[in-house]
Amino acid sequence: MSVETEHRNKQIHSEEYFDRIFSSFKETIWKESKKLPSVSLIAFECKNDPFAILVSTLISLRTKDEVTIKASERLLSKAPDVFHLEALETEEIEGLIYPCAFFKRKAIQLKDISRELITRFSGKVPSSKEELLSLKGVGIKTANLVLNLGFEIDAICVDCHVHQISNRMGWIATRTPEESEKALENIMPRRFWIPLNELLVAYGQSICTPISPFCSKCPEKMSCPKIGVEKSR
Ligand code: SF4
Repeated sequence: MSVETEHRNKQIHSEEYFDRIFSSFKETIWKESKKLPSVSLIAFECKNDPFAILVSTLISLRTKDEVTIKASERLLSKAPDVFHLEALETEEIEGLIYPCAFFKRKAIQLKDISRELITRFSGKVPSSKEELLSLKGVGIKTANLVLNLGFEIDAICVDCHVHQISNRMGWIATRTPEESEKALENIMPRRFWIPLNELLVAYGQSICTPISPFCSKCPEKMSCPKIGVEKSR
């Protein structure tokens, strides 16, 4: 590794560097959109209840924020806990979460998970990654978000925005979200792990958008190597 690269990596991985990025991105999000990701809003409304976070994260997959928020609120008002959810018919769940993506499949999944939580975990959402991943249909992103927001357990939740922005900024060079999770754990001080997802999801929705990011509005436009960005605004 050249001296310049080593120096640059040291700068990138320092606490001061991430402090600066986090505060400049936050300020820009506030100026441009004032929006938090849907699951963060639900977490705030439900006082970080792990059940509400699990349910809204499952609803949010491949679904727009506005739809996720309304669908989650409708379902949680009828089923504020796992026992009420298990008591609902699958068709009722479908109706409550419609029009989220794959609402029929998700209704079956929510019903199955509610049964599993009751039979295997006495109706509680488990607080370990392994147990969460053992629930049918729960992937690493959902598990990590529940750990983050529901239990305040350090974990890096990597969705498409976290994966893409971390690579564009040159923090990591990875091909998949799974690789990104491990790579980010290696370079990022632990205190940034929980807030990273909320920050980069909001930033990816408003500034560093997947196709043609708004680099002209980005406070990091001079320092960002814009890796893989072919077109920007
Ligand atoms: S400069 Fe452009 S590519 Fe880099 S973080 Fe900002 S918006 Fe994203």
